[in-house]
Amino acid sequence: MTPEYLKNFLRSHGLKPNFTYGQNFLIDEIVLEDIVDAAQVKAGDKVLEIGPGIGNLTRRLLERGAQVLAIEKDPKFLPLLHALKKDFKKTLRFEIADALEYNFQEYFKSLPGEESYKVVANIPYYITGKILQMLLGVEYKPASITVLTQKEVARNITAEPGGLSLLAISVQLFGKPVLVRTVPARAFYPAPKVDSAVLKIDLFKNPQFKLQNEKRFFGVLRACFAGKRKQLHNTLANNLQLSKEQVAGLLESTGISPAARPQELSIEEWVSLSEKIYKLRKK
Ligand code: SAH
Repeated sequence: MTPEYLKNFLRSHGLKPNFTYGQNFLIDEIVLEDIVDAAQVKAGDKVLEIGPGIGNLTRRLLERGAQVLAIEKDPKFLPLLHALKKDFKKTLRFEIADALEYNFQEYFKSLPGEESYKVVANIPYYITGKILQMLLGVEYKPASITVLTQKEVARNITAEPGGLSLLAISVQLFGKPVLVRTVPARAFYPAPKVDSAVLKIDLFKNPQFKLQNEKRFFGVLRACFAGKRKQLHNTLANNLQLSKEQVAGLLESTGISPAARPQELSIEEWVSLSEKIYKLRKK
């Protein structure tokens, strides 16, 4: 599909890309196939798609025989989704709703089959972090998440210990992220300002780290990352109201250097640090 073709196609349906909804449509057939391949979508798979838009990725998921729930916020796409449904009556279900609010867990729980659902989507970039956090935080978690993100975001999420951001830790706690391939801006219409990447996260069946309390863990993390460029001993004392002696004791017992900055810690160190802070507070 060329940009001109899509432009005319949209115009003939009285549509045009809405930037506030992050609408950049995928026009590169190879990239579309690569996404579905990366997600290893096969007949009978349950798939959640966020932001089907004109349904170009949706159609490929359906052609592979998947059972798709597509959640689209923009009601302008209703006629196109209805048209797609004609070809896939039994396997497509779509909802006009905000994917961040919609209770898709209930729907997937109601379907037969042991395997969990897969998320496959070209998500709007302005809410990438929110969408990932929502998908990783739900009680009935997906088996995998294959999405397009900005290339820099995919790099950030797949970083190694020593360069872990708050988002990278949030993801790597629950699964293994892989940057499958980069995607040039020209694969989209309209072309975004940045290059993109296909990011796949395989969620752990048995989480590597057992957290006593997820909320508390992320509370400590957020407090420390609020002082991203500052050394940890300062941030811990200032943002978590701990005394100098408490901070010294904590860092000594976890083997973390007082001069370390938050992005230098491993997930293991964050887990032990947050558990120890909690114990201190309980005293
Ligand atoms: N899947 C299509 C469209 C991707 S553009 C393609 O690849 O070509 C992103 C899509 O997400 C748009 O259709 C946009 O309307 C939709 N969207 C934006 N915010 C959303 C939200 N909160 N919930 C569901 N869909 C959303």
